[in-house]
Amino acid sequence: MNLVLLGPPGGGKGTQAKRLQDKYGLLQLSTGDMLRAAVAAGSDVGKKAKAVMDAGQLVSDEIVIAIIDERLDQPNVAKGAIFDGFPRTVAQAEALDAMMAKKGKKLDFAIEIQVPDAYIVERITGRYTCAKCGAGYHDKFQLPKVAGKCDSCGGTEFARRPDDNVETVTKRLDAYHAQTAPLLPYYDKRGALKLVDGTMDIADVTKALEGILDAAR
Ligand code: AMP
Repeated sequence: MNLVLLGPPGGGKGTQAKRLQDKYGLLQLSTGDMLRAAVAAGSDVGKKAKAVMDAGQLVSDEIVIAIIDERLDQPNVAKGAIFDGFPRTVAQAEALDAMMAKKGKKLDFAIEIQVPDAYIVERITGRYTCAKCGAGYHDKFQLPKVAGKCDSCGGTEFARRPDDNVETVTKRLDAYHAQTAPLLPYYDKRGALKLVDGTMDIADVTKALEGILDAAR
């Protein structure tokens, strides 16, 4: 099974993709994570992407399509992929269709996790991750059980993304509405779009997503 998670930045795509990949044996493919790894490694792609990401704009279609194309050839995608943060433009969606067809794979559906803009700033500016294992937390909605200690690995160092600040969030939301929202009719026209209310508790959003995946199995 292959699916795309759509929705605004901070809407819960990454959190939910991690939960689904564990339960269904699918692989989360997050272009944001891949680009951040490229920035950390100081690669050519990372150098090109950094300023664009810090400004809350979209990295070029060419770069992200090449990254995904390479990842789709790896054997650990055999059971299927959850695309998280990709595609983000119609050109990327068309490229994904072409890549999947070429590799004999099929996109089953796209799920929009719907969250109004009014929720996003608080969600994004409060979020952080364990620096060791990447588990996600939030200042208000998801604190570690023991303050300062990661529930998953016991790590005590945490990190915030440089683009998770008020100014950049507004730009990322603008990019979402202008460049990514056209993907909703793109998938809807072919009957492949499902909707989930992303303002519910994290566990309830997971349940709604599981309902969709279970019905498709
Ligand atoms: P994310 O982790 O999905 O919020 O992505 C963080 C940033 O990485 C975005 O604001 C963009 O600058 C860049 N990015 C991630 N995925 C894409 C994509 N599919 N197309 C263009 N830029 C992307």
